[in-house]
Amino acid sequence: MLATGYGRILSYSLASNLKAEEVRRAALGRLTSRGQKNDIRGIRLAFVPFYRLTGLDFSWSWKDKEITSPLLETPHASNAALRTLRFGEEALKNPNGGPLPPLKEKEYLLTSIYLDRTFLAADLPSLSLRSLGVRSQVRTLHLFDPEALSREGQVIPVTMDWKEAWNRIETGLPLENLTRRLLINRILSLVFFPLWEVQVDSGARTSSLLFDGVARSFLQEEAASRFFSESPAGSGFSAQTLRFRPLACPNCGGGLPVDRDFRLFSCPTCHRLWHIKGDEFENLPYRLAEAPKRLDPRQVHYLPFWIFLGQVHLEGRTIASKYDLAQLAPQARLLREEDKAIPLRFFVPAFKVRDLSVANRLSTSFTRMQPLFQVKEPSGESLHPGGVLDRDEAATFAHLSLVSITPKGNPKLVERVAQAELTLSPGELVFFPFQDHLNSLREDFLGTAIHKATLR
Ligand SMILES: [Zn+2]
Repeated sequence: MLATGYGRILSYSLASNLKAEEVRRAALGRLTSRGQKNDIRGIRLAFVPFYRLTGLDFSWSWKDKEITSPLLETPHASNAALRTLRFGEEALKNPNGGPLPPLKEKEYLLTSIYLDRTFLAADLPSLSLRSLGVRSQVRTLHLFDPEALSREGQVIPVTMDWKEAWNRIETGLPLENLTRRLLINRILSLVFFPLWEVQVDSGARTSSLLFDGVARSFLQEEAASRFFSESPAGSGFSAQTLRFRPLACPNCGGGLPVDRDFRLFSCPTCHRLWHIKGDEFENLPYRLAEAPKRLDPRQVHYLPFWIFLGQVHLEGRTIASKYDLAQLAPQARLLREEDKAIPLRFFVPAFKVRDLSVANRLSTSFTRMQPLFQVKEPSGESLHPGGVLDRDEAATFAHLSLVSITPKGNPKLVERVAQAELTLSPGELVFFPFQDHLNSLREDFLGTAIHKATLR
């Protein structure tokens, strides 16, 4: 069974670790220790919504790196010529004397970070709990069932819409020295979190004690008889209850591979390819790349790539062919006149890899080299079980690959490429044959190899 909801918001809840009686005891203990005479007026459980985003943040950024070279160190007497040079520089730039600033260059870094962020989705400005921390990772999430949950406690309405939530997350990611970012496999969900409220009457004033139902701890005290106002639950918000659909091929009924990250599924029985959208499976046509050499069919493993025809618009110029690409990325061999007729294509692996830098390496090798090959219609070949990048995510990846192939010794160009406009064709899914060889899979188009361990 597959919990569906990619492209929509899934809702979950966390169960309370505390019972009403325990909350009462904890509240009494707290009040007694302060020597207050208090009256507990009521104990209630509320489920407070938090947005949760998981995904991978994949980015190119840079930092200043000091250039160190023996030639640039303080000149020695034996190094008179250089000293003169440095003094010359100093005279030019630093007439008041003082040490010269260190020479720096931009060093580019490709990083991938697993994101798991939560923040409050309800209008409760005085609530001290603003994010769930690790609570949503270490505890079992239950599917949100509004009816069952409202029998246990009050369900607090969501007041922030998902667009605002996305915005908040994207603007909250580190921006310093960022060249290009890609968020992939991203899933936005809601987690309803249990908080206990104890209403206390201490004669002169009333207050509310809040307890964390998961961490089993006191959270805060508020000068209010009721912290959670009694508004009609769910106003303006209809939580889409999670649905399940059987993971079976809509064509032949055969079982599809189980992987929670898959967006694309290939049927091992009839070899059709399915793209999941909401809770529907959509048939996705694909073709196979023909290997340049004859391969042993028993040793062939077909891996999915998205291929886009593309044009890069860079300051008035249009880069649209293999020939033009050399303006951005130097080629290993001299380009020929006929390369002008080879339209620029972007290659993005759609399959799941443990290490995203492997996907980037493959994407950049293929995109830089622009290999030529024939494609053919499938005829019952066994395919890789699925893919994690759908068309839209792959299109974003294409731009990141473009940044990856730009030589990092030219920071100005790198930054311009990162800002360049990219027009892409709708894209096609093509499976490339890889040959099983010891611990790796190897292709004959460029001769790259992938460790089998990275595919698991
Ligand atoms: Zn099938």
